Amino acid sequence: MKSEPAILSKTAKFPEPGFWQRGLDFLLPPVCFSCRVPIEVQGGLCAECWSGLRFITKPFCKSCGFPFAHEMPAGMVCGSCHRHPPAFDQAKAAIGYDSKSRPVILSFKYGERTQGLKTLAGWLKNAGAELLEEADVIIPVPLHPRRLFKRRFNQSALLAHALGDASAKAVDVFSLKRRKNTRSQGGLNARQRHQNVKAAFLVPADKRPHIKGKRVVLIDDVMTTGATVENCTKALKAAGAKKVFVLTLARVVEPLKKYDDRKKSNHAKS
Ligand SMILES: [Zn+2]
Ligand SMILES: [Zn+2]
Repeated sequence: MKSEPAILSKTAKFPEPGFWQRGLDFLLPPVCFSCRVPIEVQGGLCAECWSGLRFITKPFCKSCGFPFAHEMPAGMVCGSCHRHPPAFDQAKAAIGYDSKSRPVILSFKYGERTQGLKTLAGWLKNAGAELLEEADVIIPVPLHPRRLFKRRFNQSALLAHALGDASAKAVDVFSLKRRKNTRSQGGLNARQRHQNVKAAFLVPADKRPHIKGKRVVLIDDVMTTGATVENCTKALKAAGAKKVFVLTLARVVEPLKKYDDRKKSNHAKS
């Protein structure tokens, strides 16, 4: 009986498990989805890129997910949320947005590559486990059709679909629309960012029934000042959303000034 597997494998009509993956690896050797150095498995990061990431863990602001440097009593909110309570009910990000994580995020956003999608959706799923449990639907921050045409894909919608698959939640990419083709948020200060995306989003009247009474998880790649997700939340709440949770791959974890020093480039956050 012991020789049976060998006989079977010689006569089997179907390739053994892993056959196609090995074939694919031969044709397209796995590389780090950020810096493109060779690695062992498709869709992952190399040790160098991985080691630079700062995953956000407790303690963090209960409202916006900003990580606290020191232990805090449960349910504490940060100074910013205390002064200006956000429109969304809760926000959470997987990693800090800094010089190490920026290339990883931007390689996905502008690289026209989606090899890392499953990995990134896994980060979102872990970071947003509690929010997803309560949620009815996942909605990505929309791009204006003209921007979508230029860039060819909406990275937030890709993330939303991948997260929907991973968490068995419904995904709605049609109900929240961007009505203004806003300029890129890069190079703008916090006040200008808010002005830029003010009233940029809406839920058309015929889509309101899809949103009314729903608990929404809103997906974006990076949260900088929160202006974009804040305005999306207002549109969703105006359409009757019961709760809006924000889930992003990354968020700025240090004063914004540092991130606005960079030139107004195409690589800026929109
Ligand atoms: Zn790498
Ligand atoms: Zn906060």
